[in-house]
Amino acid sequence: MATVAKPTTPLRPLGAPPMVPRIAPREDLNPFRIAQMQFDMAAEFLKLDQGLRQILRTPKRVLEVSIPTKMDNGQVKLLMGYRVQHNMARGPAKGGVRFHPNITLDEIKALASAMTWKTAAVNIPFGGAKGGVICDPKRMSKSELERMTRRYASEILPFIGPDQDIPAPDIYTDAQTMAWMMDTYAMTTGRASHAVVTGKPMSIGGSAGSAEATAQGLVHVVEEACKLKKISLRGATIAIQGFGNAGATAARLFADKKAKIVALSDTRGGVTNPRGIDPLKAFRYKERAGTVVGMPGASRISNDDLLTMKCDILVPAALENVITLQNADAIKARIVAEASNGPTTPHADEILARRGVIVLPDILTNAGGVTVSYFEWVQNQQGLVWDAEEVTARLQKTIVRAFHEMVETMRKHHVPPRAGAMILAVNRVAEATLVRGLFP
Ligand code: GLU
Repeated sequence: MATVAKPTTPLRPLGAPPMVPRIAPREDLNPFRIAQMQFDMAAEFLKLDQGLRQILRTPKRVLEVSIPTKMDNGQVKLLMGYRVQHNMARGPAKGGVRFHPNITLDEIKALASAMTWKTAAVNIPFGGAKGGVICDPKRMSKSELERMTRRYASEILPFIGPDQDIPAPDIYTDAQTMAWMMDTYAMTTGRASHAVVTGKPMSIGGSAGSAEATAQGLVHVVEEACKLKKISLRGATIAIQGFGNAGATAARLFADKKAKIVALSDTRGGVTNPRGIDPLKAFRYKERAGTVVGMPGASRISNDDLLTMKCDILVPAALENVITLQNADAIKARIVAEASNGPTTPHADEILARRGVIVLPDILTNAGGVTVSYFEWVQNQQGLVWDAEEVTARLQKTIVRAFHEMVETMRKHHVPPRAGAMILAVNRVAEATLVRGLFP
């Protein structure tokens, strides 16, 4: 990911007349600075006190750990990892752990702050955190991954716990990763605390519905937006960039609603068919071939072209900063539904808002995952087991309510969806901070 040192134009409150320069400045793609710009905009609308702004835009704790890991060939590799707790004003810190070769501390800080706003936007009693290990999980064996995960868990252990900070899966981590983390915590502390992580396997306190949660939440948000805009989801054309858990499940759920999946992609490239792609066939093909590229009945399309192709709904479900100043003008979708965290840059946001494209923001659109994480934590703490029906009904209620609260905020401040969701979320965290007062 390229970063440019040059400062970006400060973001104006969305809703004011557009101010995109004719000669495009080089965009600042630093994820943490982008996160702070988005926060500053909401803080400005809420007229927050400067001291409070400083507190809310800065992580509470940043932990960097080294993770010596024995590889299968007997050699020891020193890997680096992070856990950032951005804010705990509304409850224990909450957020995923990702394993990826390109992780930076600024990215983890940005994602931790996004978790603070996400949990506040859907009004669940958590703060925000994120973790990551710089590694290439695709080139590691299962036993190497287990040793690395256990050592990472052990290094961050003094800072995590059911009332402190609760990790969950994210990019290239899954239920098995969480099982190793929970076991490391239990063996070290002597407590069988299921609630220390979420996204666990069902056999050790995982929740029904957690694998589909992110995609399910996304579909609820898109459905509500379509109702509002009088767009029919039946027959709507959808392009999805990224075929991981969120992207692949969203494709299946949209197809169940009779929408038409016209393009899909993964890291190796994409496939397209204007008559529609069967997501189940794509899934099975990818299981065998390791990619959707080459699947029968669809032609090839690049990840870049997928973003700008003709469709009604575009779902970025891969990495951050894919919709930028470079391609925002060429986006043809009417709705962009952010399944991944931070796919749209602030400049792109501004261009899309001016062009009337609705950007459904990550902090609401992909909040289904953390919402079901919350349900898992509640079940663990109370020794309850809810069935899938109960989880999906509660998820729908939480997401739909949050969507309408966002719309109310948009109307009140005359702003697009991201600003609406941010103002709603920042206001909740600010209120919690103020009522608690400053320690000591
Ligand atoms: N990794 C997911 C996210 O970014 C879920 C986090 C969680 O459940 O704590 O929202």
